[in-house]
Amino acid sequence: MAEQEPVVRYERSGRTAVVTMNRPRYRNAQNSAMTYALDDAFYRACADDDVGAIVLTGAGDHFSAGHDIGSPGRDADVDFERRAGLWWGHVGKDGGESRFAREQEVYLGMCRRWREMPKPVIAGVRGACVAGGLMLAWVCDLIVAAEDAFFADPVVRMGIPGVEYFAHPWVLGPRAAKEMLFTGDRLDARRAREIGMVNRVVPRAELDAAALELAGQVAEMPRFGLALAKKAVNQAEDLMGRHSGLDSAFGLHHLAHAHNAEVGSDSLRGMDAKGMKRAAEESGR
Ligand code: ZN
Repeated sequence: MAEQEPVVRYERSGRTAVVTMNRPRYRNAQNSAMTYALDDAFYRACADDDVGAIVLTGAGDHFSAGHDIGSPGRDADVDFERRAGLWWGHVGKDGGESRFAREQEVYLGMCRRWREMPKPVIAGVRGACVAGGLMLAWVCDLIVAAEDAFFADPVVRMGIPGVEYFAHPWVLGPRAAKEMLFTGDRLDARRAREIGMVNRVVPRAELDAAALELAGQVAEMPRFGLALAKKAVNQAEDLMGRHSGLDSAFGLHHLAHAHNAEVGSDSLRGMDAKGMKRAAEESGR
């Protein structure tokens, strides 16, 4: 179903490019149209010599409720022109082959591609940053959160060991990662800052200004120096096993999808957005 508004907005504020996920009606649930629109926006910002830093944020009350598993604009069966790698398209393939090809491209591959952007990216997070939404915040270099922001990966309720981009142990530390996964509980903004996942927490009304101010300060640094500093830290994380850890967890993720499909009705253990909400409510969360 076509949506009236662009699913991603691109604006400039001084030397900062502001990229805004724009499906507020669906709490910015990420469909493939949004994925490729984000990629367009990031490409544009990285190619523009007048852009020194990028802010990624969400329109409305929430950053992102995660991957689109039930809005009218869900487009999981559409074959977009692929960019993250050379895997063949998932449309018309069966079972695990289809799921693996699709998620390799639109989730793991795209997130890796975005993490490698040579310009600093600052996430401005308000409200929900859940499951697939976490992946988008985690590919950013810095995270500024509003006081009402919350972070959660409840997909263990689907029998799946976390979202496709399994950066949890590196961005949260092992114990907080296990707590988030085992309980499905929300991590609030202050706790997220305490454990080092978030850089700054600000009042909700000040979020956009705070993210822009930080981006503006960063953008004053020399471009090449910033790019090399970013690469140096990312390489250090990869030397701590992040890259291969993501690959091995992606395999477990697909074992879980396949198990669900083998013993039940679908690869998500019969869960859609409503089912996940109901399960959370039943557990008193
Ligand atoms: Zn998946």
